[in-house]
Amino acid sequence: MKQTRLTARTPEAYPFPLLIKQLWNTPLHFAPEQEIVYRDLRRLTYRELYGRIHRLAGALNALGVGPGDVVAVLDWDSHRYLEAFFAVPMLGAVLHTVNIRLSPEQVLFTMNHAQDKVVLAHEEFLPLLAELQGRLSTVQKFVLLQDGPQAPATSLPIAAEYEDMLARAPEHFAFADFDENSMATIFYTTGTTGDPKGVYYSHRQLVLHTLAVGWTMGGFQQGVLQSRDVYMPVTPMFHVHAWGIPYVATVLGVKQVYPGRYEPEVLLRLVDREKVTFSHCVPTILHMLVNHPLARELDLSGWTVNLGGAALPRGLARDAEALGIRVFVGYGMSETCPVLTVGVLKPHMLNWERERQLDYQLTAGFPIPLVDLRVVDPEGRELTRDGRSAGEVVARAPWLTQGYFNNPEGSQALWAGGWLHTGDIGSLNPEGYLQISDRLKDVIKSGGEWVSSLELESLLSQHPAISEAAVIAIPDAKWGERPGALVVLDPVQQGKVSAEEIQKFLARFVDQGRISKWAVPRTVLFVQAIPKTSVGKIDKKRIRRELTSET
Ligand code: AMP
Repeated sequence: MKQTRLTARTPEAYPFPLLIKQLWNTPLHFAPEQEIVYRDLRRLTYRELYGRIHRLAGALNALGVGPGDVVAVLDWDSHRYLEAFFAVPMLGAVLHTVNIRLSPEQVLFTMNHAQDKVVLAHEEFLPLLAELQGRLSTVQKFVLLQDGPQAPATSLPIAAEYEDMLARAPEHFAFADFDENSMATIFYTTGTTGDPKGVYYSHRQLVLHTLAVGWTMGGFQQGVLQSRDVYMPVTPMFHVHAWGIPYVATVLGVKQVYPGRYEPEVLLRLVDREKVTFSHCVPTILHMLVNHPLARELDLSGWTVNLGGAALPRGLARDAEALGIRVFVGYGMSETCPVLTVGVLKPHMLNWERERQLDYQLTAGFPIPLVDLRVVDPEGRELTRDGRSAGEVVARAPWLTQGYFNNPEGSQALWAGGWLHTGDIGSLNPEGYLQISDRLKDVIKSGGEWVSSLELESLLSQHPAISEAAVIAIPDAKWGERPGALVVLDPVQQGKVSAEEIQKFLARFVDQGRISKWAVPRTVLFVQAIPKTSVGKIDKKRIRRELTSET
């Protein structure tokens, strides 16, 4: 068989491994004086932050951290977290971003499973760590991250306080070159059953994801993240590196604002005060922000929010736009670094009327550069792009986790047949936009037909009295399953709307041919709040348990 011709390399030519340290090459020229802000507590320039990254690497090294060691961070979103995003992988170690919203037992599992050696912990998490300490099997040192002037009392043996440690560290650390496939980060995702699963990313993967996402945000129609923007994450940095956007923002030299613990009032005031133009979050957080009384007092009209992690209901998109907030959708998962698709408009859609644009923008969108995405039947055959044929979404891209950490069985299932299985059901429409209708495990099968819970939630969100809704499958003797809805009414509407009225409202969409007759939920329960997962998404597992035991 004929072989391809490999490129020859001059012995002295530099092969340029794709390492996270290289992401600093541009901003140090382009934006050395640009600001990085932490709540109302700290302001740093890029130049200063880069200096602190050198000091952090040196200090960690002095604590015994070397290539391959794991450094865990337990913190809310902060400039310190950003420093760790760079310093830890740049010195060849692995950054474990600990999901502090998991139960203490799950946090313990993840820290032991990842083999954390040194832990950087915000003062708020000292009680949690003190409780786990005797069972943390690999941790050698704790470093305290402190906001206030007073060191908190704790039984944990604290090796150093962060600022102190940086002040004593050498100004310069010599970041060596190494293989671009070295592990840079690890974090854990929780499935419906079993222990959390570790997903991990290499330097090469994070660099390529940064370039592709940056190009997507700036290069396609909306130009939503460019060097003149001001960025504030509202997806925690422990969750898929805040969708990787801190890396993108740094390369572009944009002003960055880190809000600490997410408190609606703090977030909204930061948007206003720091003139934030770009954020990202899950729809439930946007819901909380647009319904906060302060949202009506402040001018939010310069703010663009990228929604992902769950479908964006149409009613919520309209509520946000009524406040002047621009919204658009992205799709991905912990296993995919995370971005796979983004819902931006094509040039010929730009002068369409808004509701028709939303038909496309509320889908998951189309694959970003380099992503090969397909919708397949159970045999792995690609389905046609007719907007109706639904199947599992599978993908290939340079930045997909290559497995679950030390979990061969899970890894095998994730990558069966050479494609990453998302576990999502979707269809592609003739314009190439991906519509996600459900998670495989959330699918509602009624009378042999699939009913999309996400579409029903989006329709319910358009009822003027409904604030939030969740739809799940309820076992049914005749139909196999029927959808059941959990509804939160606006505070002023409580007790004034009946289940029949909601069913009648949905029946209108049956008449219009949007949904089938059996998609109208037989059960509509009014509740005060909808259960949420550790990352703020609708917790369907818990709802199913609660709703099926009540009906
Ligand atoms: P996680 O791993 O926690 O980030 O969750 C990933 C899952 O969130 C995906 O597999 C989807 O089920 C869901 N998801 C993410 N983005 C979207 C979206 N734009 N529309 C619908 N579901 C989404």
